[in-house]
Amino acid sequence: ATPVSIMVGTGRAAQLGVLFRRGEALQTLAGVKTVAFDKTGTLTQGKPVLTDLVALNGAGDDLLRLAAAVETQSEHPLAQAILAAAAGQGLALPEASGFAATPGHGAEAMVEGRLVQVGAARLLAGVDLSALLPQAEALARQGRTPVYVAIDGKAAGLIAVADAVKPSSRAAVAALRRMGVAVAMVTGDAQAVADAIAADLGIAQVHAEVLPGGKVAVVQGMGPGVAFVGDGINDAPALAAADVGIAVGTGTDVAIEAAEVVLIGGDPMAVATAIRVSRASMANIR
Ligand code: ADP
Ligand code: MG
Repeated sequence: ATPVSIMVGTGRAAQLGVLFRRGEALQTLAGVKTVAFDKTGTLTQGKPVLTDLVALNGAGDDLLRLAAAVETQSEHPLAQAILAAAAGQGLALPEASGFAATPGHGAEAMVEGRLVQVGAARLLAGVDLSALLPQAEALARQGRTPVYVAIDGKAAGLIAVADAVKPSSRAAVAALRRMGVAVAMVTGDAQAVADAIAADLGIAQVHAEVLPGGKVAVVQGMGPGVAFVGDGINDAPALAAADVGIAVGTGTDVAIEAAEVVLIGGDPMAVATAIRVSRASMANIR
């Protein structure tokens, strides 16, 4: 592409809410065959809210109080949902010590002399979750993410959170498919939750329960000609590894720095717009 056509193309894209941090990405994006989206914060709002609370032998308030005490030190969107619910119920949170978070798994800390663990089933390897599984699976099929709570190594209950899809996500998937681009979802969330949301959005290719380090391999396995769209700190390696990294402008600075293209308003439809502008710019040159 000539420098002038790149200038015109990136200028046009900017008017439409797409920032090309590197002009060459205009050319690469025109040839993209697959767009892989992160789920949380990219296709969904990234603002999960608590929807269900299941406490085994005990009070739900106590479960929420202990889980929230752990999550005060976490920056994960799920943690924010748990904290907001505890605040909404006016719960006073006890001190937590020895906090540790494992990306893609969950978090744990000592609260009132007990080890409280909050997170995905894989954080709780060795804890018998069988009493919670039927409810967890039913919630997951509705697209709600089950977050397990264990106290001193025993299942105590679960908290379900739901994160609404962005208003344009479904239309963005349809637009990309009409343009002949394959669409995939890559997420750390549970398979059943990912499947439910993907079905709602019309996405057939789903990679769920992918640990933060695993997104790179999944994205590379889709190439060549793959663009990855993400918002989180844990998306940065996959954004760098994709042929084109596209960051959600409302996401983390780390993701934006790793990407070549930024969706300024965070609208997934802008991915289709970006590809359309890229194709038009390249066609002008030929
Ligand atoms: P995504 O790829 O969709 O942005 P993550 O990789 O950040 O998701 O997280 C994957 C899963 O790990 C979550 O769905 C949740 O089950 C669990 N998890 C991670 N961090 C936390 C936390 N602080 N509290 C509770 N659960 C967590
Ligand atoms: Mg995300």
